[in-house]
Amino acid sequence: MKILVPVKRVVDSNIKPLVKSDNSGVEVGGVKMSMNPFDETAVEEAVRLKEQKIVSEVVVISIGEAKSQDTLRTAMAMGADRGVLVTSEDALESLSVAKILQHFVTKEQPDIVLMGKQASDDDMNATGQILAAKLGWAQGTFVSKLELSEGKAQITREIDDGQEILELVLPAVITTDLRLNEPRFASLPNIMKAKKKPIETVALADLGIDTAVRLEVKSVAESSSVREGVIVSSVEELMDKLQNEAKVI
Ligand code: AMP
Repeated sequence: MKILVPVKRVVDSNIKPLVKSDNSGVEVGGVKMSMNPFDETAVEEAVRLKEQKIVSEVVVISIGEAKSQDTLRTAMAMGADRGVLVTSEDALESLSVAKILQHFVTKEQPDIVLMGKQASDDDMNATGQILAAKLGWAQGTFVSKLELSEGKAQITREIDDGQEILELVLPAVITTDLRLNEPRFASLPNIMKAKKKPIETVALADLGIDTAVRLEVKSVAESSSVREGVIVSSVEELMDKLQNEAKVI
């Protein structure tokens, strides 16, 4: 069984993103970039399935600037076997990414595309769903537990107020919730080994895929800041503040 894991290079999740002064997006120049946390979870799960000998090959793919190679190397240091880098300087929307992934699914013929439920940069939460629809495959989204057996996947989905358990017939697109696992840190020897693993590099322009822009970002703004909290010394003081300051009761 083969798993394809798309991994996106995004602003490191420990860094507070700064909105550009013209509100056109988020500042990425000189900012630490890392693998999208949801994709780390997907890589970890795929590698665990390989370690359990349920899966024979884990291929990772990243679409973006040449530096996305670092993201592929991180995934390979975690245990993925090889990488595919599709280079593009343009910001691509979910439909375009799904079309590119569809191209490589047709080429690689994986049984599962295991990917993040969302990329932490623009929180689109759309690529997996579009890809499944384009492929005509089953889809399982927001997955916090995954078990594979005889051409099927049993998944637990995180939904409002609870969990849903579904059985999918493979091939399928499965998107990960962070509850699925705790991703490992790559060890130094594995980081060194990953440098020798193969990466196939392809320029997006050579694939002949229509990636015309269909969405326009009108404005990006920071969320309104949370007010500082205070510690009250008694229930009476709390009631007083709720009634007279916050005016919520
Ligand atoms: P999104 O729909 O943009 O929130 O992203 C959902 C998932 O699609 C991510 O967690 C990745 O697995 C995948 N993805 C999105 N953009 C890219 C990209 N440029 N390269 C590789 N994978 C991507």
